[in-house]
Amino acid sequence: MKLSHRIGQVEPSPTLAITARAKELKAQGMDIVSFGAGEPDFDTPQLVVDAAVEALHSGKTRYTPASGLMELRQAIATSYASRGREIAANQVIVTVGGKQALYNATQVIFDEGDRVLIPAPYWVSYPAMLRLAGAEPAIIDTRAEDDFKLTASSLRAALEAAPCRGLILCSPSNPTGATYSADELRELAAVLKDFPDVVVFYDAMYDELYYEGEIAPDLVASAPELEERVITFNGFSKTYAMTGWRLGYAIGPVEVIAAMGTLQSQSTSNATSFAQYGALAAFELDAAVLTERREAFAKRRDLIVGMLRAIDGVVCPEPTGAFYAFPDFSAYIGEGEGKFADDLALTQYLLEEAQVAVVPGSAFGYPGGLRLSYATSEALIEEGVRRMHQALQRYS
Ligand code: PLP
Repeated sequence: MKLSHRIGQVEPSPTLAITARAKELKAQGMDIVSFGAGEPDFDTPQLVVDAAVEALHSGKTRYTPASGLMELRQAIATSYASRGREIAANQVIVTVGGKQALYNATQVIFDEGDRVLIPAPYWVSYPAMLRLAGAEPAIIDTRAEDDFKLTASSLRAALEAAPCRGLILCSPSNPTGATYSADELRELAAVLKDFPDVVVFYDAMYDELYYEGEIAPDLVASAPELEERVITFNGFSKTYAMTGWRLGYAIGPVEVIAAMGTLQSQSTSNATSFAQYGALAAFELDAAVLTERREAFAKRRDLIVGMLRAIDGVVCPEPTGAFYAFPDFSAYIGEGEGKFADDLALTQYLLEEAQVAVVPGSAFGYPGGLRLSYATSEALIEEGVRRMHQALQRYS
């Protein structure tokens, strides 16, 4: 059947494809170490599970308001006080995962041909979502030396080069783990002051998986003058290990949130009722549970970064948040002996020779890098990176 022009603009998510392939090989009996996962390896906290089960048993199984249960919107608003922001409940919309929040926002903000800046390496779905909205992703390269962060000067250059309607920032970042400090956010905000029509999407999905404090700096709390043109995205998937629950949210100006609610009312109607009741309980969770998980991730980060840096020619900036390392393997790619044609060839070699699954940087707009998720045990990190190291030594 003939498919729409629109769907022809996008491809299936490559990160999900790699994880699926690694699972397939595992199922065939291969001893695969997978660094592909984009989800925590912890379980959803019991308190949250119990609250959802209780909701099911007590008949809370009907449609909720399209923009989410008012109690949940209020709880999210209240939680943002700890990030230094005063927010009203009608500035919050609850969605089917953070992904749907981003999708809805691209649909209600951007028009055909709008140019939107995305620093690379970027999360795979941003360009696809923009294309589905008819907008044009405009990629700005960042450098490993800058910890893969956008600098004020490169932002200014990109904004001056051509008219732009938007900018997408992700902090802490998937795929690099880089986090903007409050000062860095203020420097970017100072540039944006000269470009008042630019809307900023601030993806803070991993902000509680931060290793230099409890919560990563928030853009609006750092630069309140941007409040009227920032949409912040967050969710329950990563912080509370609730990826399968499909629950996220967006925060923004009331009229934007209302428009996203209109779109939602005509598409998914609302996020699942009992998942929302479960999420309400997440706010009651003992902070010690999150601290413990954060500490476990920080230990794994130290281990994986140390082991990757020990591989000849590999540059690996230190991730300050999320659970991804993004080492630069450019030294192994290109022409000549001991090199791979591209990062895909390298990842294929690692899968076949070392039985280790990693995601090629080209999926994130940065060929030459590899993304390794360290949401896995220390024993598997040790085993997996050791195998990679040895396989590369055999190759050269
Ligand atoms: N944003 C980033 C940067 C992500 O890595 C993800 C998930 O991988 C999402 C948004 C969406 O998360 P979810 O839809 O599970 O809330």
